Amino acid sequence: MTKIGAKKETGYRGRIAPTPTGFMHLGHAKTFLKAQERAREAEGTLLLRVEDLDRERCKEEFTGALIEDLRWAGLDWEEGPDVGGACEPYTQSDRGEVFRKVWKSLRASGSIFPCRCSRKDVQVAVTAPHESGGELIYPGICRDWSPDFDSEESAEAVNWRFRVPDGETIEFVDENLGIQRFGAGRDFGDFLVWRKDGIPSYELAAVADDIAMGITEVVRGEDLLLSTARQILLYRSLGCEAPSYYHCPLVLDESGRRLAKRHQSLGLREIRRRGVDLAALLGDGS
Ligand code: GLU
Repeated sequence: MTKIGAKKETGYRGRIAPTPTGFMHLGHAKTFLKAQERAREAEGTLLLRVEDLDRERCKEEFTGALIEDLRWAGLDWEEGPDVGGACEPYTQSDRGEVFRKVWKSLRASGSIFPCRCSRKDVQVAVTAPHESGGELIYPGICRDWSPDFDSEESAEAVNWRFRVPDGETIEFVDENLGIQRFGAGRDFGDFLVWRKDGIPSYELAAVADDIAMGITEVVRGEDLLLSTARQILLYRSLGCEAPSYYHCPLVLDESGRRLAKRHQSLGLREIRRRGVDLAALLGDGS
């Protein structure tokens, strides 16, 4: 069993983990500034990790822009792989070996299973009662499929899902929102951890990196609460202690919709261009 004792040995370690699929908006800034505030209050370390595994949607230009926007918003991170100069961020696309190791370990413990279902197969097999919040609950088609892979490469070339403990309630205390409960098999089903193109899913990559980087608290948006329940299961299967969690409320527009790229006026670039004071904007309850 690997116990991550980072809490005691290294003090508070937090991270901000943007995905460079577009320009950052006010919601990102608010969450990241909260992450910075919590790291500073704890006299801890904050690091920047660019989550750029989705090769189709992530663009180099967005990575450059987000670093510029983060700096403008007053964010600062103390750690990156290149400690010689200004801290470069960690970049997930450089960290394939870390993810592969975790995938192998999950495989060895029998926590995951290979799956040959396409998205369409799942859609066809799932009837309305198995849907939760728009998410399709995987109906278990491949749970008992155990092919003999003749090489590591052929095993890597299929999708793999985490087998959730059906009926179990995953409970955690969020530092901001209090107690949270999600039902495995009810609120979420067997989730993807590995894709047949050799790229890990967000859930696996985030957990693998949070462990490798000794993260003690994860500060992120409320939209990831359900992911937290999934990730807690991954920690358990890996024999690691999960960090604590602080989920921030999402910033909404006037009609109550989550901010997205369409909200250009609330993009950090636009706010900067208009010369609006970000702190004032964030301070007025937005
Ligand atoms: N990269 C994720 C996002 O931008 C955040 C992941 C996390 O903080 O765990 O939504």
